[in-house]
Amino acid sequence: MAGLKLNHIYKVYPNGTKAVSDFTMDIEDKEFIIFVGPSGCGKSTTLRMIAGLEDITTGELSIDGTVVNGIDPKDRDIAMVFQNYALYPHMTVYKNMAFGLKLRKMAKEDIDVRVKEAAEILGITEYLEKKPGEMSGGQRQRVALGRAIVREPKVFLLDEPLSNLDAKLRTQMRSEILKLHRKLQTTFIYVTHDQVEAMTMGTRIVVMKDGFIQQIDTPRNLYNYPCNKFVAGFIGTPQMNFWNGKLKKDGGKVKMTITGTELNIEADYSHFTKLNPVYLEGDKTVVMGLRSEHVSPNASEYPYKAKCRISHYEDLGTDCLVYGDLDLNNTEFTESETKIVMKAPAGSVYETGDIIEISLDLDRLHMFDPETEKTIAGRIPEASSAECSVLLKAMKILGANIEIPEAINIEKGKKYDVQIPPDAITVYKEQKPGLATAKFISEEQVNNLRLLKLKTGPATVYSLYGGEKYEEGQNVYLDLDLKRITFTENGQVKHSALCLDNSLRGTLVKRKMVEERTKENGKVVKEKGFVIDATIAGYTAEVPDEFGLKLLSSGDSRKIFENEMEFRFSPYAVSVSETGISAHVEKILDYGKEKFAVCTVDGKTINVSADNVKEGDDICLALDFNKLLVCDTVRDIELI
Ligand code: ADP
Repeated sequence: MAGLKLNHIYKVYPNGTKAVSDFTMDIEDKEFIIFVGPSGCGKSTTLRMIAGLEDITTGELSIDGTVVNGIDPKDRDIAMVFQNYALYPHMTVYKNMAFGLKLRKMAKEDIDVRVKEAAEILGITEYLEKKPGEMSGGQRQRVALGRAIVREPKVFLLDEPLSNLDAKLRTQMRSEILKLHRKLQTTFIYVTHDQVEAMTMGTRIVVMKDGFIQQIDTPRNLYNYPCNKFVAGFIGTPQMNFWNGKLKKDGGKVKMTITGTELNIEADYSHFTKLNPVYLEGDKTVVMGLRSEHVSPNASEYPYKAKCRISHYEDLGTDCLVYGDLDLNNTEFTESETKIVMKAPAGSVYETGDIIEISLDLDRLHMFDPETEKTIAGRIPEASSAECSVLLKAMKILGANIEIPEAINIEKGKKYDVQIPPDAITVYKEQKPGLATAKFISEEQVNNLRLLKLKTGPATVYSLYGGEKYEEGQNVYLDLDLKRITFTENGQVKHSALCLDNSLRGTLVKRKMVEERTKENGKVVKEKGFVIDATIAGYTAEVPDEFGLKLLSSGDSRKIFENEMEFRFSPYAVSVSETGISAHVEKILDYGKEKFAVCTVDGKTINVSADNVKEGDDICLALDFNKLLVCDTVRDIELI
């Protein structure tokens, strides 16, 4: 029984193929984890690295708290089951199952107990004396599982174990493997390209594409909250409908249009409160996604109506898939960007070419950016929008009069839209001067974070900092982190939120050194060692030991010292110091509670949390190595 920790794991094959990039996840003891994705996405490579059958290029793998990068597969306490069973044809089932234990020199009597017990669990006791050739595919796969069970491993790795079986047997074996997992109470990692298998078996699923993790989540969350268009399309059958369209907010309503169609819905803003407000201006294209089960050929099912031309339908017995096109002029029924598939009750009948009224469940609408394909209405929204009117000395946001800090350059008498990220709002129970008043609506748990939904005037906003528990409808008070707020006017940014992501380039060098050490007997001996120097933006400093160790354990150290590195850090990870990186203060941003120096360093701009510097100063900056991210820019690998 064991948990696994995969930390920034990469695999680059000798021929240069980058099969796995930055695989990072913690797997808890007894989890049933699925790696799923299209062929070639790096699932098997990851599994094989866990098994030790493939070297890890960079990154660290621990099992049960022990780093196993350099440990032989046979000493990892892991058992792997493959698609092609890999049974010895000349041996009986009994011998096949006993073989591994015999190699490990286990006593005959103990082997006998384990083999019989495993055979019992798998229901293959009566086949123990048969040879694999005399058995069906399902039975052979059970033997392969048996061979893994007898080893009593800490972790079971299964690589597409059911893909050689026919559909009926696959369903049966699926539930048997789940039963086995419950019985053995061990960690299982299971690779499949079949999303149905993934959705029905995993406690958590890792969706992969092109070597990168797309999303790690429970089946339900993957279905409800896909993080990008790929995951949205990969999970669920039939595939989610995707259309390009535009959204324009007008007061409490949002006008929704779909490119190439007459569709023009005036929807309630409540369906779009999590959408990044920059997509509500009506000018940006938005990819809209709606699953077939959330559109209905029955016009009265949902409040929002549209029209569609029927192409054909498939009655599956349990339900009926109705295909059509939102472009009513498209009589060809070709693969179009406006096509639609809907689920209807079994037995429904449709006439090809008919134009019918359908209805949409906009509460289930997914929205993605057409370029990045990332969700723009995530479970944790990027920002909420509200209005800001600028008075003489104060600005009014969410009903609160807030003194305008020097750093925020906005014109008096004007109105702006503001975008407020959820981590820029702190909710309090008690009123204090300058806080906005809001009503608490609801709370949602998102990956160990509490997301509070709040309403104040016409605006709905979200906060990640709640503190207390609140009742629905209760008055709460909001403190806004002004440096995180963006001000726009007619969609144009007039004042940006402070950038908290700084980066500088540099190199790491290993420096040999000789240290003198006094031994217990008083003798002074010279010991050879080395330290790591970081040259960042032209300034060289020795890195702390702990940071150096982390770097060295992140993989092939030669590459670390050869390649250019990017050091990423927040304004709080850098401070003004006597010596350090040379910087010129371009301006000071004074937010009242906090001050930041906008500095040029080596031709780049970085923001530094600093109280005692002035515009025009030439200063030195020291980095806090404990708060740095280090990326290898040549291999595009995050090391720490
Ligand atoms: P999956 O299991 O998701 O189908 P794999 O992990 O087998 O994907 O492969 C990921 C990528 O690595 C693919 O592009 C594949 O061609 C490549 N690959 C796999 N094994 C090797 C190898 N031994 N040498 C070079 N490239 C490989």
